[in-house]
Amino acid sequence: MIDIHCHILPGVDDGPEKTEESILMAKEAVKEGIKTIIATPHHRNNRYYNSKEEILKKVNKLNDELTEIDIPLTILPGQENRIFGELIEDYRKGEILTLNNSDYLFIEFPTSSVPRYAEQLLYDIQLEGLTPIIVHPERNKELLDNPTILYNFIKNGALSQVTAASLCGYFGKSIQKYSKLLIEHNLTHFIASDAHNLRNRSFKFSQAFEIIQKEYGSELFYFFVENAELLSKGKIIEKDIPVPIMRRKKFLGVF
Ligand code: FE
Repeated sequence: MIDIHCHILPGVDDGPEKTEESILMAKEAVKEGIKTIIATPHHRNNRYYNSKEEILKKVNKLNDELTEIDIPLTILPGQENRIFGELIEDYRKGEILTLNNSDYLFIEFPTSSVPRYAEQLLYDIQLEGLTPIIVHPERNKELLDNPTILYNFIKNGALSQVTAASLCGYFGKSIQKYSKLLIEHNLTHFIASDAHNLRNRSFKFSQAFEIIQKEYGSELFYFFVENAELLSKGKIIEKDIPVPIMRRKKFLGVF
């Protein structure tokens, strides 16, 4: 299986500080059935700056280290871009890294809000020939409060990725419930770990896929497994027509 969102590179962000920790994470990933990880360090989230060139170098280095000690895990390059106004200019300058050099680009919103220019930027990213993937929409307060915003983004061509731990309930009941609603309404296309460490932000990958298998069956299980594979190869992913979430906030029990 492929995990398309993971902070496994050492010393680049709030993931592992040292290579030894990255190796321990790699071992855990293998235990969870993961064979390939797209390393997605934070970029321009007000704390961390990880340009394309730096990430490519560090991915090569970690792959060499994993090979040396026979850990059967491949690291591919990626980047978790916090949304910012000059993203397209930076992409043209060669500082922005898509997921394994495909046409898929991770976009992260701030925790509590969705910038007003997001709609235009998501559109402009697509004009640039890229497909934006909104990471963990279930953990953004504005999208939780108003699912129609996400529905419109998806309807207009963006994709989204739900975090495994959200689906398992580690970020609370509301986020778990919302994650399930996103799956049920065809508003998400990927499940990924967004793992940062083995203490409090671990993979929860197999647990999430067990939930999907149990609650939604094999078809959706393979939908998510295959989409991660297709993405990693730069191929067109599967998607179903998104459905608006009509339930009231009160019923949802969020905020
Ligand atoms: Fe992340």
